[in-house]
Parts: sequence; structure tokens; C-alpha cells
Amino acid sequence: MVSFISTPGGWELLLIGSCFLVFAGVAVALVLVVAMLLRKSSAGPAVICGGCGQSNPPTARFCSRCGQSIEKSPS
Ligand SMILES: [Zn+2]
Repeated sequence: MVSFISTPGGWELLLIGSCFLVFAGVAVALVLVVAMLLRKSSAGPAVICGGCGQSNPPTARFCSRCGQSIEKSPS
């Protein structure tokens, strides 16, 4: 018979387990925050139309207000 609970200091394992759960929760929260920040930064800033000044999403090829083609200036 294999007994897991009869080991002395079982409460220590419980304590370590709870601490590990808390640590894992904090780690997951940090990863989520970093992922959100990376996604937000990778989206890029809005593209300002050179003709009318309308801010367009970075994926837009034409201005949503005046229809002028948006050329991303090479930096
Ligand atoms: Zn425009």
C-alpha cells in the first residue's frame, strides 16, 4: 500500500502547495499584463492623414475621411 498522507509534515506540503498556487497566479497575471502591453504596442500608432489630418488605423491604406492614399513614410 502506498500512503501519501502518512508522511510527517503533511501540512508543510500543503503550505508549499498553497504558496506555489499564489506564485503561479501572480506569474500568470504578470504574463497577461505583458501580453496586453505587447499587443497594444505592436498595434502601432494611428496613422494621420497628410491631407485632412484624420487619424486612421495603422492597417488602413486609404483615409477614412477623404479617401487619400496613406503612404507610410519610411523612417
Ligand atoms: Zn484624409
